[in-house]
Amino acid sequence: MLVSVNTEVVVVGAGPAGLFQVFELGLLGIKCHVLDSLSAPGGQCTELYPDKPIYDIPALPICGAQELIDRLLQQIKPFDAGFHLGEEVLELKRQDDGRFRLLTSAGTAFDAGAVVIAGGVGSFQPRRLGVDDIGNFEGSQIHYRVKNAAQFHGRKLVIFGGGDSALDWTLDLAPKAASITLVHRRAEFRAAPASVARMRELQQAGRLRFVEGLAHRVHHQAGTLIGVEVKSTNGELQRLDAEHLLVFFGLAPKLGPIAEWGLELDRRAIKVDTEKFQSNIPGIFAIGDINTYPGKKKLILSGFHEAALAAFAIQHHLYPAKKQFLQYTTTSPAMQKRLGVTGA
Ligand SMILES: Cc1cc2nc3c(=O)[nH]c(=O)nc-3n(C[C@H](O)[C@H](O)[C@H](O)COP(=O)(O)OP(=O)(O)OC[C@H]3O[C@@H](n4cnc5c(N)ncnc54)[C@H](O)[C@@H]3O)c2cc1C
Repeated sequence: MLVSVNTEVVVVGAGPAGLFQVFELGLLGIKCHVLDSLSAPGGQCTELYPDKPIYDIPALPICGAQELIDRLLQQIKPFDAGFHLGEEVLELKRQDDGRFRLLTSAGTAFDAGAVVIAGGVGSFQPRRLGVDDIGNFEGSQIHYRVKNAAQFHGRKLVIFGGGDSALDWTLDLAPKAASITLVHRRAEFRAAPASVARMRELQQAGRLRFVEGLAHRVHHQAGTLIGVEVKSTNGELQRLDAEHLLVFFGLAPKLGPIAEWGLELDRRAIKVDTEKFQSNIPGIFAIGDINTYPGKKKLILSGFHEAALAAFAIQHHLYPAKKQFLQYTTTSPAMQKRLGVTGA
């Protein structure tokens, strides 16, 4: 069923820039909905380096990347933005009345007065198995994420990868699967050492197999995947019976559908001006890593600045007759009311 949402602004991307955009719009009394293809907010900070410290956020001499996202989420709480996570924006079209229609992979449609694209380096997609003839099995017998773990109980499984996801699912499913083989291209793992140690214990106890190698090809019979051939480092081929392959090679960013929306691009980034951070389509703004202009630096700090200026431009775009003036959060009763700190 198509769900339809009418809103002042849609923000595409819940990375640090998109989250701060909610704040800057909220201060001006503008409501928005935030969409992200990932299942959690945070963009690169959460997905690529949650535990790493960041040292160049103003007034925070050191701040963990996930901590920064948690703080931003806390800061934008008063504005009660609608979050739609795990939904990739597939379509964005300007309507005849100047408003925008967006459609997501989950079938949600949005009708918005303005759009901010804060899509970073694009939406993160799982890295695929990388062998021929797998298209028909993806989603049915080849999986890049686990949606329903129970479907793997009592099944012959081969898990690919050497990071935390691969090891976590290997350990989780080992007691429940009919058989389980972990395949990784080398003997060293990126996963937490405790998980690797536990996997080795189970391997020694004969409760799972570990094979060092790479997927070479899949075997199928009458339209059903029945196994996979793995090529080890010495070139030897080994056939593993399998009903399901679980592939955890991490996520790679892809500009994806953003490239199809008629926006002027320069080397996979959206060209914007530096007054409004508006694209070539009036009403569509772009902030953070996804935009480009002379002197652009892909820093979180830059995204924050761009969000502040874009918010004023969006206010003008939505309400051209409204007089604009700069207010300070320290002294503006209207802003304090929106922040829920009236009387502080
Ligand atoms: C290892 C590492 C360390 C870093 N250290 C620092 C540092 O110390 N200081 C610093 O300033 N910067 C640092 N950066 C860079 C910083 O992380 C980026 O500048 C910042 O994340 C950009 O924020 P963003 O919100 O623009 O985009 P992102 O964080 O990339 O978020 C964009 C979001 O948009 C979503 N998206 C894209 N397309 C769609 C779509 N079609 N539909 C739905 N969702 C979509 C993506 O899924 C993603 O979640 C570092 C980067 C890395 C990789």
